[in-house]
Amino acid sequence: MRAAVFNEPGSITVADRPDAAVREPTDAVVRVVLSCVCGSDLWYYRGDSPFEPGPIGHEFIGVVEDVGAEVRDIAEGDFVIAPFAFSDGTCPHCRHGITSACAAGGFFPANGDGGQGEAVRVPLADGTLVPVPGSGHSEDLMTSLLALSDVMATGHHAAVCAGVDEGDVVAVVGDGAVGLCGVLAAARLGADRIIALSRNPDRQKLARGFGATDVVEQRGQDATEAVLALTDGVGVDATLECVGTGQSMDTAISIARPGSMVGYVGVPHGVELPLGEMFFRNKGVLGGSAPVRAYIPELLDDVLAGRLDPAPVFDFETDLNGVQDAYEAMDERRAIKSLLRVGTA
Ligand SMILES: [Zn+2]
Repeated sequence: MRAAVFNEPGSITVADRPDAAVREPTDAVVRVVLSCVCGSDLWYYRGDSPFEPGPIGHEFIGVVEDVGAEVRDIAEGDFVIAPFAFSDGTCPHCRHGITSACAAGGFFPANGDGGQGEAVRVPLADGTLVPVPGSGHSEDLMTSLLALSDVMATGHHAAVCAGVDEGDVVAVVGDGAVGLCGVLAAARLGADRIIALSRNPDRQKLARGFGATDVVEQRGQDATEAVLALTDGVGVDATLECVGTGQSMDTAISIARPGSMVGYVGVPHGVELPLGEMFFRNKGVLGGSAPVRAYIPELLDDVLAGRLDPAPVFDFETDLNGVQDAYEAMDERRAIKSLLRVGTA
């Protein structure tokens, strides 16, 4: 089969790989229909994070081609969403809703297969894959379904961890696909005001379309002052940190009102927490690698009902052979998120 592989920073090519196949009785093989590139993929693409050369990609939706003898809930022919982590759904962590910390689980790419390829072997299929009801879904809806494999559920996780509630004033730090989905998630949870921190006109426009009521273009201390000015010096009720840099976390904590939470989902790179300020102002942080599998069912209902549409974050698309272009477009911030059309449903 054909699949994208990471060679070295800046170099992604398509190579022949062994066909994905059932190896364990709890496995399934998914033929990929849509995949995409993630902001977190850019850490290794840019050489900022070590990564073994080989298959890549952790976001995909597709059709089940084969299942192992012990798979009960997933069947050949099912159209499924795969979260970026596989999980059994039965261990204590999964039962607490933190499927991304599953005792038996792991993260894609795994076992030599990545989501940016023609097919993927999915371990623990029953606990991992989510079948999509119905058929003949539109292109736009399919793209929204793909966003549930990571960015939409990750944005939602940030909002849940920040404790977004009806009527809240919320701030979202980060205008990538996860940050923009964080705006959607905060609106979905009933936030009254949503302040999007973004300097990019196109992303500001998308954030407003997703429900942002205010935009702050400043960075650093200026951003803090701008948000405090918008909130009469109080700060916001809930803050979503969706980047992972020291500056974005500092900003997030500085604009949070006393007694509130920062929900953080950006993969931390060079982040230190100001515990002194957090202690004396009673500010907390909660978050991490999103338990996407736990969130997909409720978000899927809203996508299918047309109440939730994250598809606009995909503003660049190509086929599998164009994967290097897909990375470059995001690396050069010409694209928010790149879609890969791999196969047909
Ligand atoms: Zn588990």
